[in-house]
This record gives sequence, C-alpha cells and structure tokens, in this order.
Amino acid sequence: MNIGSPNSRFRASQFFGLLAGGFALLFGATVALLSLDQQQVVEATKRLKQETVPQIIRFHRLARTIEQLRHEGTRLFEADSPESRQQALFVATMLARHPNMQDGQQASTLAVETEKFLVKAGQQLSEDPASFKKLQAEWKVIDNLLSLLVNDAGIKGGDIISDGLAGVERSMQNARIKLLTALVMVAAFLLLLVYLLRKYLIDPLQTIDHELSELSMERPVPEFVATPLVEIFSIEEASRRLHASLVDNERARHEMENLAHRDELTGLNNRRFFMVQADAELVRAHRYDRPVTVGMADLDFFKRVNDTHGHAAGDTVLKAFAHLLLDSVRQTDLVCRYGGEEFAFVFPESTLDEVQVLAERFRQRFSEHDIRLPDGNVLRITLSIGLADASRCSLEQALNRADEALYKAKHQGRNRVVLADNSEQAAN
Ligand code: GH3
Ligand code: MG
Ligand code: MG
Repeated sequence: MNIGSPNSRFRASQFFGLLAGGFALLFGATVALLSLDQQQVVEATKRLKQETVPQIIRFHRLARTIEQLRHEGTRLFEADSPESRQQALFVATMLARHPNMQDGQQASTLAVETEKFLVKAGQQLSEDPASFKKLQAEWKVIDNLLSLLVNDAGIKGGDIISDGLAGVERSMQNARIKLLTALVMVAAFLLLLVYLLRKYLIDPLQTIDHELSELSMERPVPEFVATPLVEIFSIEEASRRLHASLVDNERARHEMENLAHRDELTGLNNRRFFMVQADAELVRAHRYDRPVTVGMADLDFFKRVNDTHGHAAGDTVLKAFAHLLLDSVRQTDLVCRYGGEEFAFVFPESTLDEVQVLAERFRQRFSEHDIRLPDGNVLRITLSIGLADASRCSLEQALNRADEALYKAKHQGRNRVVLADNSEQAAN
C-alpha cells in the first residue's frame, strides 16, 4: 500500500487517536483480567480463612478427641481398682459421644464400636478378671485402628491446607503473569509511539525545517518522502508552493528589471540605466585616477534606410548594429542605445588612443558588414563616432565633448572616428 497516496492519508489526530484507542482497549482488557485475578486471590484467601482453617481445626479437634479416647481406653485396662476403671469408662463414653466425633464418618462409626467394646470389657473384667488378656488383645486392635484414624485426620488437615494455599498461589501466579503482560504492553506501546512519532512527525518536520531554511530559487523544488498524515502533507505542499512562488517572483522581478534597464528593440541597456552605471564608473576612475574614455556613435544617413526600405528595415539595421556591437566590446565596457540611431559608450581602464584603435576597427568592421533586410535585400551602412577622454571631467561634460566630436565627424564626411580635443577638457 502506498501510504502517501491522497486516498490513504489521514489526520494526525485520527492516526494517534486510533493508536491510543487500540492501546486503551487492550490495556483496559488486561487491567480488567488483572482485577479478576485479584478478586480470585481475595476470594481464595477468604475461603482459606472461612472454610479451610475451621476445617483444619475440626480435623485437629477430632484427632485430639480420638487420641484422648485411646488414652482412656488404655487407662481402663491399666486401672488397678474398679473405681478408676469405672472412671475411665465414663470418660471414654463421654469422648465417644462427643460431637467432635461427628466430623469424620469413620471416626463416628469407630467411636460407637469403641464405646460398645469398652462397656462390654468393663463388665467382663469386673465379672471375670481372667478374660483380661483376651480383652486387652482385642483393645490393641481397636487402639491401632484409632491410631490410624488420628494419622488420617492429621493428613487430611494437611491436604486441605496445602490445597487452599495452592489455590491462592495459582491466582497470584495468574495475576503476576497478567501484570507482567500489561507492563510489557505499556513498554511496547511507548516504544511504538516514540517510533511512530519520530517517523511520521519529528523526521518529516525536521526535513521541512531544513528545506524551508534552505529554500531559494537556485535550489530545486523541495522533495519529501510520502507522508500518511494530512497535516504534514499540507505543510509540505505549502513549502512546494512557497518555492514555486519564490521562483515566479524572482522571474517577474528579473523581467521587470530587464524592462526597466533595457531597450526593447536592440536589447542594449537603455539611456537611464546607462547613465547610472556610467556615472558610477567615472566616479571610480576619478577616485583611483584611472583612464576612462566615453564615446557617442550615430548611424550615417539612417533616415534614408527608413525612407527607402521602410521602418522595419531600419529596425533590422538597428538590431544588426547592436548585435555586432555586443560582439565587439569587452564585458566591462558599457554601451547603450542613447536614442534613435545614437549610441553611447564608456570604456573603463582605456585611454583615448587605445579606444581610438578599437573604434576604428569596429567602424571598419560595421561598414563591411552585410545586413540582410526583411525584404531580402542586403544593405551596408556606415557610422560616425566621437570619442572624449573622461578621466578629468564629469559624465555630462564628457558626453557633450564626444557629441561635438561626433558632429565634427559628420561634417568631415561621416564614416570616421573623431577625438575630442583634450585641451577642451582642461578648459571645461
Ligand atoms: P546623419 O547621417 O546626419 O545622422 O543622417 P541621418 O539620416 O542618420 O539622421 P537624421 O537625424 O536625419 O535621421 C534619424 C532617423 O532615425 C530619423 C528617425 O526616423 C530614425 N529613427 C529613430 N529611431 C528609430 C527607430 O527606432 N526605428 C527606425 N526604423 N528608425 C528610427
Ligand atoms: Mg544618423
Ligand atoms: Mg541621429
């Protein structure tokens, strides 16, 4: 079963509620059984007190009464006068009829027999003393039987007490086993609970915590192991949504930034963004006294392209120019579409002479570059460039001087690079 599938997912309260309910049922049943055993122990103890002990006492009394009967019987035969014989007979008769004798079937029968015998023996001995030996021999037999009964009563008493104690011990043993089972169950449940809490709550929460703390658009969408709990799944889903919106926001921000910074047609930086960057670059160059050169470029007779081939052809030319320009400058150079078919540059760490070489090379390259128009025609076009050293003047001044140089280039016949006079810079 896939426990992470939406159909098999359930709430933590249900999950742990079911678990606790199941455990409570099992535990309750064990405790109920345990209390039953406890009840049995109590009852067995009560039985021991109310039935077994009195029974033992009865057997004990019976044994003592039989013992006394034996004693009186023997005294009758040992008596040295008719009076003491009569006395022994009297006591023996009392004992044989004693209610204690009714506690044993055999004892009561034998007591009756003994009494009969002793009455008969008493009479015969007074009438015929010569029958003493014969009667004494008969008494020995009865005495032995009585002695056996005494033993019997003792053994029975012992049996009863050990049976009673065995019952109590059995009940206690049962109770002990069930108590042990209940304890093992509690321990097993606690272990299971800790395991489940860890697996389904703590571990997923730690993973979520880790993923959230690392959440960024550079990292992939957070991945989680399938969870069976609705709540955890919701947080995981929220983390994934958070990541998605983070990526969307970042993308939107990037696009906005692009729109704000770039010229739509050529993809070059726009004038506003260029001015901010160029200004910072000049500040840096001035602070460290580093060379920096600015430039302005303008396509020659661009109006004619529009007039001859249409506005779309003009756009194509502008895009081709931008493409070639980006291919020709260094990454650190700043370029922008200044407006219309005019472009501005900043060349950091470059002197006017060094940039002149680069500009010449680019002018040459562009003038020889075939531009394929949308209508299939191929066109070549030139550009004029004005350059100015900006290492000792503001951006505005430098751009003005580069523009003046560009104006001169147009006047001198176009398709050329003209440098602004450095003395003008000093004058500014
Ligand atoms: P010069 O050699 O003196 O620079 O002559 P030019 O014709 O290049 O200069 P001019 O200032 O007379 O004309 C510039 C033209 O550039 C006018 C305008 O219609 C065109 N232009 C400006 N922006 C765009 C654009 O985005 N697309 C197109 N196709 N044309 C544009
Ligand atoms: Mg022009
Ligand atoms: Mg122009």
